[in-house]
Amino acid sequence: MADCTSTQNKKNCNCSFNCARAGICCRCLNYHRRNGELPGCYFPGDIEKAGDRSIKNFIAVVQQRGTSYLV
Ligand code: SF4
Repeated sequence: MADCTSTQNKKNCNCSFNCARAGICCRCLNYHRRNGELPGCYFPGDIEKAGDRSIKNFIAVVQQRGTSYLV
């Protein structure tokens, strides 16, 4: 994982926002963590598009859908 690249990371990124952090997972995680959130890849596509990345929303999604969408 230490030699992963932005291009590789973008293949696993479902973020629909035009963001300079896309593919730079350390910056993405730090940004959302500071805001009490999780990165877009923790959410199913339809939820990710709505932009609510709160931990509260993540818990609600997992309670409703389980975690199989994360695989
Ligand atoms: S999840 Fe957030 S920080 Fe990461 S690329 Fe998308 S908008 Fe940017």
